[in-house]
Amino acid sequence: MRAPRALLILALALMAGPALAQDGDFSGFVASLRSDAEARGIARKTFDAAFAELRGPDPDVLARTRRQGEFSRPVWDYLVGAVSPGRIARGQAQGKRLAATLASIEAKTGVPRAVVLAFWGVESDFGASAGSLPTIRALASLAYARHRGSLFRDELLAALQILENGDVEPARMVGSWAGAMGQVQFLPSVYLREAVDFDGDGRRDIWRSEADSLASIAHYLRSLGWKPGLSWGYEVRLPKDFDLTRYRGPLADFTARGVRRTDGSPLPADGEASLFLPGGLGSPVFLITDNFEVIRGYNTSDSYALAIGHLADRLAGGPALAAPWPSGAARLDGPGLKRLQAALAARGLYAGEQDGRAGPKLREAVRQYQIREGLPADGYARPALLERLEGRP
Ligand code: CA
Repeated sequence: MRAPRALLILALALMAGPALAQDGDFSGFVASLRSDAEARGIARKTFDAAFAELRGPDPDVLARTRRQGEFSRPVWDYLVGAVSPGRIARGQAQGKRLAATLASIEAKTGVPRAVVLAFWGVESDFGASAGSLPTIRALASLAYARHRGSLFRDELLAALQILENGDVEPARMVGSWAGAMGQVQFLPSVYLREAVDFDGDGRRDIWRSEADSLASIAHYLRSLGWKPGLSWGYEVRLPKDFDLTRYRGPLADFTARGVRRTDGSPLPADGEASLFLPGGLGSPVFLITDNFEVIRGYNTSDSYALAIGHLADRLAGGPALAAPWPSGAARLDGPGLKRLQAALAARGLYAGEQDGRAGPKLREAVRQYQIREGLPADGYARPALLERLEGRP
């Protein structure tokens, strides 16, 4: 599975408590789950079939939760893997092969075909790597290990609900070690709410049906608030001496202030956007819209959202990013970002979670601090900023 969702789930898991349950063995855990399942109307037969071959937590799943290697990949490294030339070529070929289905989904939902394809590509490499771990096994292991955290237990009950509904046989309900399922990598609760049957066979099949998978992505994006006709964002070039303190507003204002798309085409006359500098000044600059936040609803990571948006543009024939990234430059990792969040919170500038993750709230806090200190307000959480904050309390 790719990094960001693993990160989120790992972070949630770590918050939930110690690595192993303090009380009870695995059979005790299953017994306690049984009554919750019964209360939800899950038949004993369904429950017993799901747990028939599970005697204990999967040690590989538990080991994965302790692996932290992908925690702090820079956005530029993430993009290299997520938007590779090979993936663009495969995506364009899939787009041609599935043109009729994608056109029909776009007509129904207003989500562009390239955006749907980009999600499918990043989530499962267009269905090629959807994961093969039984979802009940993955979620039971995680729920058992974080006994007091409710996230995985709730997802496990949702997974049992899917089996009860008969959408998929237990043997085919597979996905990642973190419980994300099928070609779209939905958690079970998302599946229950958002998956759709698009090929009309009466089943919502995100494992085998490409049409169901693609339509489920688009349906979920609509539920998250996707605005038809609005791009996720644009790579832009700022004029010299641009006033970074005015970083949000109508696209027409940005145009009036000399901001230009790097591909030379004009920015739309309508709509609002805000500046996003994921590597700070001197690296690619973007104007992002509300649809960028919708993408973050699928997976709350700036890197992920940028990868989806840029891959969609490339699949539609758009150019590579124009500005270079500051590869190799010093940057804050997860623990560094956590310290930055704490330092900004101590100054009353940051009220979000101190989770070591970059996002809109931290960007806003960094900008307010930069404006207060007379620094260029690019919103970028660079190491020098943390030094300054910690050196001068
Ligand atoms: Ca179907």
